[in-house]
Amino acid sequence: MNKKEIEKLQKEISKKERLCIDELSQKESDRAFDLAGDYKRFLDNAKTERAAANEIVRMAEAAGFVSVDRALEDPAQKTGRYYTVFKNKAVALAVAGEEEITNGCSIIASHIDSPRLDLKQNPLYEDLDIALFKTHYYGGIRKYQWLSLPLALYGTIVAANGEHIDIEIGEDPSDPVFVVSDLLPHLAGKSQETKKLSDAFEGEKLNLIAGSLALGNDKIKERFKLNVLKLLHDRYNITEEDFVSGELEAVPAGKARDIGLDRSMVGAYGQDDRICAFTQLQALLETKNPATTAVGFFFDKEEIGSEGNTGAKSFFLQDFLASLALLVSGSNDQQTLRRPIVRSKALSADVNAAMDPNFKDVHEKMNAAKLGHGVCMTKFTGARGKAGSSDASAEFTGMVRHLFNENNIVWQTGELGKIDEGGGGTIAKFLANLGMDIIDCGPAILSMHSPFEISSKTDLYMTYRAYKSFYSRQKQ
Ligand code: MN
Ligand code: MN
Repeated sequence: MNKKEIEKLQKEISKKERLCIDELSQKESDRAFDLAGDYKRFLDNAKTERAAANEIVRMAEAAGFVSVDRALEDPAQKTGRYYTVFKNKAVALAVAGEEEITNGCSIIASHIDSPRLDLKQNPLYEDLDIALFKTHYYGGIRKYQWLSLPLALYGTIVAANGEHIDIEIGEDPSDPVFVVSDLLPHLAGKSQETKKLSDAFEGEKLNLIAGSLALGNDKIKERFKLNVLKLLHDRYNITEEDFVSGELEAVPAGKARDIGLDRSMVGAYGQDDRICAFTQLQALLETKNPATTAVGFFFDKEEIGSEGNTGAKSFFLQDFLASLALLVSGSNDQQTLRRPIVRSKALSADVNAAMDPNFKDVHEKMNAAKLGHGVCMTKFTGARGKAGSSDASAEFTGMVRHLFNENNIVWQTGELGKIDEGGGGTIAKFLANLGMDIIDCGPAILSMHSPFEISSKTDLYMTYRAYKSFYSRQKQ
């Protein structure tokens, strides 16, 4: 073969690395930046799982979705576009398809909880004339990242009389914020610098500073703590015992920002996994008359193992599909319900770790995802020999690859780090257990699980388009 022939052959049979910006037209690039504007607003309004659930329902209602329960009671409400919200923390949406639901659905499932600091049930104390809140971290955090950082407090308290009180302190520019203090470098030698990172920062020391003024004179016991309690009582009419039935979450205060002189990236807390929740929501809200019924799940508790009644291990998915089957086919007996589940195709919409120029060593570069290289298909997750992963099949991976190629989606594949470097899991395996085909699919981000995660606007756009093509797929 001559040089020309070899080059032609190479073009035909070698896998090409793709970059979004090489393939986006100016119009599409503008669209990507516009979408990122909407995304930043979503992030600012959805910093906790409760806030995200509220925002998703608000946007769904505005797009004509009706409560599945209301539609079950009143046939006039049967619009074909339904939602449900469970325990204020998990949401499901569906757009009825042209085909029978027993043929299966197109399901995309993300999670709307993110790592954070939760207040303990007896949180408030004082030490050295400073009032503080004790916290218990939620999800996988690197503890040192949460020191010296302005934090806002969100949540709900159920008072003694049963009243629900929503708390939000620290987002409004006129609000105060909270902070976990850190040691000065001058004195960190023995207690931090010489220790292993995992030993240098203790969970029990992630205490939030809440005040430093006292109520009354030094005859009053715990008057610094009392002053904070009084301020909370004045603002929210709550007492110390009310913390027991409260869920208060400290998250980084402040808004999502553009990163870089070219503004090509978004920096914000909670992008794992709200970048998937947002793109999935956007794709579903725009889906009209799909061939197969299009369903979106937004789960809670992924960061602590998908436990509890709002996590992906719960019956929430099956209960929603049962209601949906009853609405669209008039039946949801065991047989009619198992069929759509087993025949469904699903994307586990979650982020992967993009290779970091500062920390390339933890990745195996042939199989690591890169920022700006499009939506990432992660065939398996897990650790130590794929343990704990559902490992998507060749058949289903092939179907998704075909779909993305047909729709000009820039995609890449990714693995979460080198073998035996660490690892992680997603909700994919819990849906796979039910019998459906599922693969992890979402953008790759930098600084995952940090208080300020980094995503690419072109990846955001490509992920949205990938999800949209999945909802619009023709039955295979
Ligand atoms: Mn995630
Ligand atoms: Mn995560």
